[in-house]
Amino acid sequence: MNKKSSKKLFVISGCSGVGKGTVLKAFLKRNPEFMLSVSCTTRKPREGEVDGINYFFISKEEFKNCIDNKKFLEWAEFAGNYYGTKKKYINQCLEDGKDVILEIETKGALQVKKQMNEAVLIFIAPPSLETLEARLRGRHTEDEETIQKRLNVVKEELVLSKQYDYRVVNDDLNAAVEELELIINGECANA
Ligand code: ADP
Ligand code: 5GP
Repeated sequence: MNKKSSKKLFVISGCSGVGKGTVLKAFLKRNPEFMLSVSCTTRKPREGEVDGINYFFISKEEFKNCIDNKKFLEWAEFAGNYYGTKKKYINQCLEDGKDVILEIETKGALQVKKQMNEAVLIFIAPPSLETLEARLRGRHTEDEETIQKRLNVVKEELVLSKQYDYRVVNDDLNAAVEELELIINGECANA
């Protein structure tokens, strides 16, 4: 990646199962200087997920406390659980001169854009709705009720994604990672 002159905040979203986690993992392997924000959530950990690494797994009560005490830069309810990004964590990363990536859903992303207009919003789109559903099911991490809740918000997310700065279709994984890299590299070079 090119040398960067100032810190940037990138917000990546995409419908559940589109492959944003997979794309980001590959991107971060190639570009380890970026900080991936660790969010708070009230959902239960999936097998293999570690508290403090994948998420800070907290109770609904703790989450509500953080809302009341204005600890979140943004937060949203998604498919029956709450997710939020702590202000303190992001500000610390940016102050330390690190480029930060948030992987969050669309309502939260647009809250971030309202507060930080310089944030760059990138939407990872599926090649088709059939592929999206097949990937979500093929991951085998959610029960049928949860899958339905996640599929129910797809249309709303696709509408909100029109407000994003960039769109990357995750068809071929390597191509998607390279396109994401080009976007982020270009934005950092212009910073
Ligand atoms: P998300 O983080 O968006 O919910 P994941 O990264 O968990 O999605 O990916 C969902 C499933 O799709 C995983 O099983 C993953 O291996 C698979 N997947 C991701 N990207 C691709 C791709 N480009 N082609 C085929 N399968 C993919
Ligand atoms: P999952 O349960 O699959 O890990 O995440 C569900 C959705 O919540 C995904 O769209 C993910 O991007 C989003 N998400 C994760 N962390 C946050 C967060 O801090 N804030 C918001 N608004 N969404 C988040």
